[in-house]
Amino acid sequence: MGGMTTTRVMQVTTPGGRPELAERELGSPGRGEVLVRVEACGVCHSDAFTVEGWMPGIEYPRVPGHEIAGRIEAVGDDVVPWTVGQRVGVGWFGGSCGHCEPCRRGDLISCENGQVPGIAFDGGYADHVLVPAGALASIPDDLAAVDAAPLLCAGITTFNALRESGARPGDLVAVLGVGGLGHLGVQFARRMGFETVAIARGTEKEDRARELGAHHYVDSTATDPAEALRSLGGAVTILATVTAPDAMSAVVGGLKPRGRMVVVGASEDPMQIPPFALIPGSTGVVGHASGTSQDSEDTMRFSVLHDVRPMVETFPLEQAAAGYDRMMSGDARFRVVLTME
Ligand SMILES: [Zn+2]
Ligand SMILES: [Zn+2]
Repeated sequence: MGGMTTTRVMQVTTPGGRPELAERELGSPGRGEVLVRVEACGVCHSDAFTVEGWMPGIEYPRVPGHEIAGRIEAVGDDVVPWTVGQRVGVGWFGGSCGHCEPCRRGDLISCENGQVPGIAFDGGYADHVLVPAGALASIPDDLAAVDAAPLLCAGITTFNALRESGARPGDLVAVLGVGGLGHLGVQFARRMGFETVAIARGTEKEDRARELGAHHYVDSTATDPAEALRSLGGAVTILATVTAPDAMSAVVGGLKPRGRMVVVGASEDPMQIPPFALIPGSTGVVGHASGTSQDSEDTMRFSVLHDVRPMVETFPLEQAAAGYDRMMSGDARFRVVLTME
């Protein structure tokens, strides 16, 4: 250990700027930290917090990226049990403080001092990152870095939301949206044993949704999606992965009594739901934050066991700006991943 590591980063120097190439000198990892050689980093819609400056308090220049897959190159003091050379991933969960109330109750993802890679500290649009050891998830041998990366945010978010939803094998579960999150949500829902419904606009995504495992496909431009779900018996869980609140409110009526719509598509726009849509069946709408590094590990392990993979478009690190634009266009099929040489 010791000495400096020179690394390439794609940093944003000002809110609303573009990711631009720069060189950084990274010191050796401090106590509880590891230095990771990045092999792939997913480009997530939430990178817009950093690139567009949507979140107050971000210090610039900042390197975005919280879907980091790589290999440990150096470990700091008091890092247990990680060792140099291990394949590791880091997602939205960048570690927890251990002393706030949620942490003391064991709810680490709700840590009041939680730090998100690419927002609170420099993230994975880089050849190397320094990260807290608590944020690390082990990557299974059979999972390529480009596939692991999206599982560390889009994957864990949908996997964890579904497995914690209360739905049981055989239950009807709908995934609203077949995009970056939804194409993974459909795969997880099918492989968890749910009767799986994919809901999207138009017919263009039907074949893809069925290939991914959907038993049913609902074109929400041709049919009332709530009515369609009711005709199938009603959904125990609707996983809402779109970012359009209108599309979410349109499906709530498709819940079975006691059913829940679990919202993971991030939007700041208000969702309009008449209270009477929730009262008769005692239904509900809840959010779901991704999960911890252990949940990431579970996600990747399940993905290898049951053959879940993201569909990705790759861009070399130095084309991060083009990759980011591609992701923001909504046309990527379905996740953009940066690769490092
Ligand atoms: Zn993300
Ligand atoms: Zn905490």
